[in-house]
Amino acid sequence: MSFVLHRPEVETLSGEELRNVQLSKLRQQLVRVYEKSPYYREKFKSAGVDPHNFKSWADYAAYPFFDKEEERISQQRSREEFNHPFGMHVTCGVREINRVSASSGTTGLPTYVGYTARDRAVSEDNFARMAARTGLVRGDRVMFAGVMSMWIVGIPAVDALLNLGFAVIPIGGLAKTERLAQTAMDTRPDLLMCTPSYGLHLIKSVPEKTRWRTQDFGIRKLYVFGEPGGSIPKIREQLSEGFGGAEIYDMSGGTGCNNPLGISCEENSGIHLFANDNALMEILDDDLQPMPLEHGVEGEVAFTGLVKECQPLIRFRDKDIIRVYTDPCPCGRPGPRIEFRGRIDDMLLVKGVNVYPNAVRDVVARSSDLVTGDIQIVRYSSSAVVEAPVDVQVCLKKGVREAQQAAIKEQLESAIQNTLRFKAQVNLVQPDAFRPEYGATGKAKLVKTVSNPDKA
Ligand SMILES: [Zn+2]
Repeated sequence: MSFVLHRPEVETLSGEELRNVQLSKLRQQLVRVYEKSPYYREKFKSAGVDPHNFKSWADYAAYPFFDKEEERISQQRSREEFNHPFGMHVTCGVREINRVSASSGTTGLPTYVGYTARDRAVSEDNFARMAARTGLVRGDRVMFAGVMSMWIVGIPAVDALLNLGFAVIPIGGLAKTERLAQTAMDTRPDLLMCTPSYGLHLIKSVPEKTRWRTQDFGIRKLYVFGEPGGSIPKIREQLSEGFGGAEIYDMSGGTGCNNPLGISCEENSGIHLFANDNALMEILDDDLQPMPLEHGVEGEVAFTGLVKECQPLIRFRDKDIIRVYTDPCPCGRPGPRIEFRGRIDDMLLVKGVNVYPNAVRDVVARSSDLVTGDIQIVRYSSSAVVEAPVDVQVCLKKGVREAQQAAIKEQLESAIQNTLRFKAQVNLVQPDAFRPEYGATGKAKLVKTVSNPDKA
């Protein structure tokens, strides 16, 4: 397949060339945040680092991390002391802020992200790189069916799409199925943007509630975001089939950067990063030391926004586990690829084994053609430590016979044991009895906490 690059001069940078560009921008950014923000200055001083002496990657390993909790506290302080919500770590004048988003805030209070006009321009450029790589051209019709309001992927995506000259149909992620179907039939979008769970929901609910099927919309491409389903082969297949053979692209970003930063390709071999000149990714080992970005390396990810003006987050720990691929992709597109492996916060511990719910969903989906790929792990306390065997509810496809079920159960239990090294008790559930729960941003919840096991 052929493809176009929007900025070949930076998108094809690799190895030492790229590292040099990153190092020089990193030095500028560190000096900038040190000079603009008393908060960063104090933070760096307490860690014993001074950006004016910053020379090499080894120096960067001594810089302190940032995380969600620190961001929240910093924003609480700035509300109290300066009457704005952008945090003590803001590095531009607050009147230069041109657009505000809020994080999904599923774990507590929301945090606010500001963008200057230049931040919006960099994000727009990254969006243009993503669009070019996936064959989207000016004038294509784009239906945005994600939660808009202030959510981080919502208005920012619509903003970039409008400026890049697409015909944007911003229906939002809260539209009723009937309304979305009618609008799609009337406006005939080329691209649909939504979460993978919402895409799957439409495939099921459109024929139930309207006289159409999602295949009838004529959608050629889907960008999915917000949860890892877009990189899970079975979910991609279901989405592609449900939307009449559409190409499925999984997009991703990093907190504190000018998102988006990456998009998958038709090879399903990970998400290609295309913004390495403005967003730095580090992969950390168990002692939080950066590892060389070699093929196959896996660990916790930290992002640094190299050119973000408003609130660049220096070494932000998103608490995601990422695997890196640097071998050439058969699609030919440049850039290292990443695969999302799970969230540190979602991680369960089963007899000392780390279990990521997404990985369980992935193994279940791959191991049988008779299941839908929807799962829910049931635990009986909010603790991350879960007793074996772990209760995994798995949704059957319609029409699977009773006689087939024992074999499916055994097959899935042994696949989980062999691949993920923990003991599961698979409970097969009929499609009409399976009610996946969704969080505030439309992400499917894979772990359900039940207080009384006798009633489960
Ligand atoms: Zn590729």
